[in-house]
Amino acid sequence: MIGHPVGHSVSPQMHNAALAELARHDARFSGWRYHPFDVEPAGLPAALGLMRERHFRGANLTVPHKVLAVALVPDLDPAAREAGAVNTLALDGSGWHGFNTDGYGLSAGILEDLGLELAGATIVLLGAGGAARGAAVECLRSGCAALWVMNRTRSNLDSLLAHLAPLAGRVPVGALTPAGAATRLQPGAVVINATSAGLRPDDPAPADLGTLPRIAAVYDMIYNPPRTRLLAQARALGLPHANGLGMLVHQGAKALEIWTGVPASTMAPAMRAAAAKALGYAGATDSDLRT
Ligand code: NDP
Repeated sequence: MIGHPVGHSVSPQMHNAALAELARHDARFSGWRYHPFDVEPAGLPAALGLMRERHFRGANLTVPHKVLAVALVPDLDPAAREAGAVNTLALDGSGWHGFNTDGYGLSAGILEDLGLELAGATIVLLGAGGAARGAAVECLRSGCAALWVMNRTRSNLDSLLAHLAPLAGRVPVGALTPAGAATRLQPGAVVINATSAGLRPDDPAPADLGTLPRIAAVYDMIYNPPRTRLLAQARALGLPHANGLGMLVHQGAKALEIWTGVPASTMAPAMRAAAAKALGYAGATDSDLRT
């Protein structure tokens, strides 16, 4: 994993637990290890060159490298190209190949923890940064019914909407205000928080759920802390809700599938247990934080 910083990440624990599990059944994986590397933005090309020399299988990229890699890796999968971000790299004889498994992780996390499909759903997306762009692209790729975006800074919201316009096809995509929500939201809307509001204990909630009518469920991409103010609001309103641990796990499991060929669904349970433990979730289970 290449990031800047990387110290906070639980991906090494999550992936190394999965690799240990794989090695128990298949000796091919006994020498496989997942290492975090703190690389400054300007150092990414050299880091990728060095990893190629040392025969690495692949890499995960985190902030700020996800966006920088787009210009460095010519072969991108459609999800990475549309999101403008690469979170997974795989190396073979022809060089680096770029993927984006965050969208898959979001879909799979919402399905696992809330029992909901993005296909056909009305989505209220909070945020307009990198994570929001990836989430919005995934919602459109999955066939959502409508995508409404709320963000603190209007200019950033407009940039996101401009990026999404060519991808939207006939799906309604636009800005949402609490006033507009009364008329625009269909019953069963799913709120997805892709802002960073909630990472710190004194952060405000990114939206007042009480002002949004006809919401069916709330998904917060933040998983540390495990329950943000937004999720506390959802709980108080009796709405099904889940944090972003499932997304973290499933994007990681999909990356592992790309590197190893082992189906993502096989490794996800062990990865979830390892990530929950590394995050200090009570008793290594996060089930009380779902719904
Ligand atoms: P960015 O810095 O690119 O974007 C931050 C977004 O949060 C912007 O829309 C910003 O709004 C908004 N924001 C920040 N502070 C506040 C606030 N106090 N009130 C309202 N809005 C606020 O960050 P990323 O997009 O990279 O990441 C966002 C979140 O997604 C992070 O918390 C990260 O943990 C989570 N994430 C989770 C993943 C998972 O696997 N579960 C994967 C990737 C990300 P503005 O435009 O006004 O500045």
